[in-house]
Amino acid sequence: MHSRFAGITRRAAVVATAVSATVSATVSAAVIATVIALVLPFVAHAADAAAVDAALAAAEARAVELRHQVHQNPELSNRETETAALVAEELTRLGYEVETGVAHTGVVGVLRGGGGPGPVVAVRADMDALPVTEATDLPFASTKRTEFLGQEVGVAHACGHDVHVAVGLGTAAVLAALRDQLPGTVKFLFQPAEEGSPPGERGGASLMIEEGALADPAPEAIFALHSMPAPAGQIGWISGANMAAVDQFEIELQGKQAHGAAPELSVDPIVTGAQVVLALQTIASRSVPPLDPVVVTVGIFRGGERFNIIPGAVHLEGTVRTYDPEVRETVIRRMREILDGLTAAAGATYDLQYTSNAPATINDAELSARMRPVLVRAMGEGNVVDARPLLAGEDFAFFANEIPGFYFRLGVVAPGTESGGLHTPNFRADDTAIPAGMRAMTHVVLDYLEGGE
Ligand SMILES: [Zn+2]
Ligand SMILES: [Zn+2]
Repeated sequence: MHSRFAGITRRAAVVATAVSATVSATVSAAVIATVIALVLPFVAHAADAAAVDAALAAAEARAVELRHQVHQNPELSNRETETAALVAEELTRLGYEVETGVAHTGVVGVLRGGGGPGPVVAVRADMDALPVTEATDLPFASTKRTEFLGQEVGVAHACGHDVHVAVGLGTAAVLAALRDQLPGTVKFLFQPAEEGSPPGERGGASLMIEEGALADPAPEAIFALHSMPAPAGQIGWISGANMAAVDQFEIELQGKQAHGAAPELSVDPIVTGAQVVLALQTIASRSVPPLDPVVVTVGIFRGGERFNIIPGAVHLEGTVRTYDPEVRETVIRRMREILDGLTAAAGATYDLQYTSNAPATINDAELSARMRPVLVRAMGEGNVVDARPLLAGEDFAFFANEIPGFYFRLGVVAPGTESGGLHTPNFRADDTAIPAGMRAMTHVVLDYLEGGE
């Protein structure tokens, strides 16, 4: 929070001085009241760093309390009903215009600032938990169990989305407290199903967009953060390529079953499957330029029932990670060519199901560059580090493909404690990450609304 507000304050002081010099004793009290009424809103603009700090401090305890509630009541993707109800209730209490049921359980909150015209900016926070049994020593650890894909499982916020909800609501509270000084409009998108919808269901960012989350009012930029097992309060800044496009494939290789001792009567899908697995590795090594990131991983190879039977079919499944859409197209094309060639040679057939999930998350270069000094000022030079792109994916990409996006990382591990990686039972985010995330997000939003300096 800096010079734009300070500039307005200085101008207001000049106006006030000029006014008092010309006001004569005969001017009516009504005129003075009018002048005060005109000048006061500008004086109120003195929402300097101290006002922001005060609002942050005032909102912290409630945000941490909300984090505990969300953490203790984790809900899987597209099932975030209690979380969504809590979010909607809190946003309503803070004076936001609230829309619920967006993309099943999503919640959208809009705050129109009272500080004059300005841009519309969005903040996204994801709400879903994972089918993971928590194994941390947190006093508010989840003990919840539910059903997932027909199995009873533990549920936990093993990806830190409880932190994201708390930081989102905390930031919403800070901005609501500063509302009278805020130019423009802030739109909070509390998103379901970041981890992917259950089979047969749609959801997440793309469905939110389809249902109008980026319209009326239409944000011109969007921010989000993600918890990382790094020192609490440390910000991982990154521009451009950030998180990869995540695709999934399933291959059914159909051969011909035979006695294991009569291979000449078979079309052996295990041999062809083995050739396919090896040949798929040549996509990364021989079909894509070495400096373009790409991963082709076969994670499942299933086939056969008995040592002396050549099975009739095998099943392969895997994932493809890319950044460049052209590289992705190359992977898909080469995958088909390899399957066509190898199955033709073997006399086998195949069926390929290729599903593109989230595209790559690319941070807008201009927006990222603008926010780096903002984060350094807010968090301190030593607390902002340059992050490297990951080959993990992020549903935020759908938003960032529509409007410029900046997605940064928030360290959540307290000194003297340990955390497992994201998506593991031991992932342990400390409460101190909440005020740190609120501070970072608040300053990023304020800078955007003020038009930058
Ligand atoms: Zn995750
Ligand atoms: Zn996540």
